[in-house]
Order: sequence, then C-alpha cells, then structure tokens
Amino acid sequence: MIIAIDGPSGSGKSTTARLLAQHLDITHLDTGAMYRVITWGLKEENIDINDISSVNSFLEKTNISYKNANEIMLNGKLVSSDIRKKDITSSVSAVSALLEVREFLVNIQRKLGKKIDCVIEGRDIGSVVFPNADFKFFLTADLDVRSMRRKNELKKIGEDLSIDEIKASIQRRDLIDSSREFSPLKRSEDSIEIDSTDLTINEQLEKIIKIIKKNKEGTSKHV
Ligand code: C5P
Repeated sequence: MIIAIDGPSGSGKSTTARLLAQHLDITHLDTGAMYRVITWGLKEENIDINDISSVNSFLEKTNISYKNANEIMLNGKLVSSDIRKKDITSSVSAVSALLEVREFLVNIQRKLGKKIDCVIEGRDIGSVVFPNADFKFFLTADLDVRSMRRKNELKKIGEDLSIDEIKASIQRRDLIDSSREFSPLKRSEDSIEIDSTDLTINEQLEKIIKIIKKNKEGTSKHV
C-alpha cells in the first residue's frame, strides 16, 4: 500500500505522515529529507549547483541509505540532524529544481516504495513519483499557521528564528517549489485536499484515518 501526502512547507505533512505510518505499522518515507541530504552533500563538497557536470559526478558516487526520517545516511555518514539546519533549508529548493537531482531521487523513492508499504510525503508524490498511489492527500494551511508550526519545530532543534524570517523563508520556498519546470508542487486532481489551518495534528490524523478506513472497509487489518 502506498499513501502519498503532498503539500507546501509547514502544512503538517511530516508529523502527519510519521504518525499515520506508526498507526498503520508501515514505513514513513520523507522525501524532503532526501533532497536535504543531497543539498548538504553538495555544500560539503563546495559544488556549485550551476555546474551540472560536477553535480552529476557527485550523484554518481552518492549512496543514500534511508531507514527513517531521523536515520538517513549519505555515503555511510549519519546526516539526519545537519539537514534540518537553516543554511540547508535556504538552499534546498534551488537544488531540488535540478532535473538530474530529481531523477536520481525519484528513482530511489520508486525502488523503496515498490518493496514496502509506506506513507510517502513530499511535493510531487501523487503527481509524479506514485501517480497510482492507493491514497493521495494534499495538505494545506494558512501561511501564518504554517509559519508558527515551523517556528516551534525549529525551536526544538535549537534554532530560534523570528516569525517574519520564517514566513519569508516559507514563501520563498513555496514560490520556487511551485514554479519550477520539473515536477512542481501542485495538487493532483485526484488527491484529497485537507486544510489543516484549524485542525490539531490529531484531528488531521483522525480525518485521514477515517478516509482510509472508509475506502478500505473490510480489506485492511491495519486501520
Ligand atoms: O519537506 P521539506 O520541507 O523537508 O522539503 C525540503 C525541500 O525539498 C522542499 O522545499 C522542496 O524544495 C524539496 N522537495 C521536493 N520534492 C519532494 C520533497 C521535497 O522538491 N518530493
């Protein structure tokens, strides 16, 4: 079973996907973390992202091993906490706009998704990576609410940014992510949109579980 969850930054995708995967006892695949890993690696090697042949050479020798959103390795090195930092967040959208990077990661995501049942979250999962997913959700929320959520998340990892700074960063990322040429952030028509502005994480999760249960009534032992 593949459950795709897409949406803009701060829409609650990651928390919802993680809790849903726990509830269903299946794997949570955080594809944003994979784009962050590539961004981190390119930075470590001082590779200019406009230099496509260097980006390609980097990808050729890159091995990503994904256990869960908090255990991701790049060529054997655990990088899960470094990838959440401010400098990676500010560069990741430019890196994920590169076709070479997208093809490289989509290939990994499809291979993983074919082997296991998973809740997979990102920007292009329902539209490009798994257009035939069993369930497709698209999460949204007001910018103010998304910014506040991001602020709280960042505080937990010791990054205290002003709300204005966070709001500007989210807007910038959303703009790049939704206007890029390849696989832009876009709701696929057959996805179920959930506006989480006035919902708690638990309410959002309940809503999704109810929809899955209704559609799979009698066929799944998980929900
Ligand atoms: O979900 P998260 O905010 O960690 O994603 C980081 C970035 O990775 C996004 O802003 C977007 O540029 C990129 N991304 C993407 N496609 C995905 C998942 C993430 O382009 N499927």
